[in-house]
Amino acid sequence: MKFCNIASGSKGNATFVQTNDTLILIDVGISYRALKKQCEIMGIDLSRLDAVLITHEHSDHIKGLKTLSQELDVPIYMNPLSYKEATKNMGDILHVQEEEFIKPIVIKDCEISAFRHTHDAKYTQGFSITDGNKRAVLATDLGKVTDGIYKKMQQADFLYIESNYDLNTLINGPYPQYLKARIASQLGHLCNSESAQTIKNLVLEGKQRFMLAHLSETNNTKQLAEQTLMNALQEIKATKKDIELYIADQRMPSEVIDI
Ligand SMILES: [Zn+2]
Ligand SMILES: [Zn+2]
Repeated sequence: MKFCNIASGSKGNATFVQTNDTLILIDVGISYRALKKQCEIMGIDLSRLDAVLITHEHSDHIKGLKTLSQELDVPIYMNPLSYKEATKNMGDILHVQEEEFIKPIVIKDCEISAFRHTHDAKYTQGFSITDGNKRAVLATDLGKVTDGIYKKMQQADFLYIESNYDLNTLINGPYPQYLKARIASQLGHLCNSESAQTIKNLVLEGKQRFMLAHLSETNNTKQLAEQTLMNALQEIKATKKDIELYIADQRMPSEVIDI
């Protein structure tokens, strides 16, 4: 199983998971043109795409979706509530399969399940994808890590987890008060320390591979996110050497990671 993040953050999100038989795109939050360009650079063949999964209808997750649906004949799995809201803003999207993920779905050699996040969209979900051998779990745009979400994370061989903001940077930053409150609420985003504490607990259980994601360009830096995580790991006498850490970028695709 391979994992490649193309873009991550409030200006757009797109991530690929690829198995022997299957190529899956999670979110189309950058323009289709930008996606195509990045795929060419990364050697990802979009004509082989088997499915698109949408986490939620915020524009940083669906900006390029309509054009993609016109260019590629590929099923797009969306929650019905997200779909309804998305069509209000962008009109008809082709090839959508309204899917509630009441049970896992199978696409070729992949089994995909979804779990609901607390976040201020009509419906927001994370995904857990396995080829029967390894499992990637993606969890961004969530206000808190509930017990249910943590249980999903415990199953991950590779966890893509939000580390959106540094609390002090947010408080002292330029955003208006209502937006600061929204981000920090349980319907907003995960801050560095929430993400770090979650990873710390997973490291205690033997998990090692993580990608910090959806970092705010205004209220966070990679250095702050990483330092907060290292401070949390210090509490359990772990260091950088004990984990394999990646940090997703808004503009630069990650390497293609073998899970
Ligand atoms: Zn987002
Ligand atoms: Zn969102």
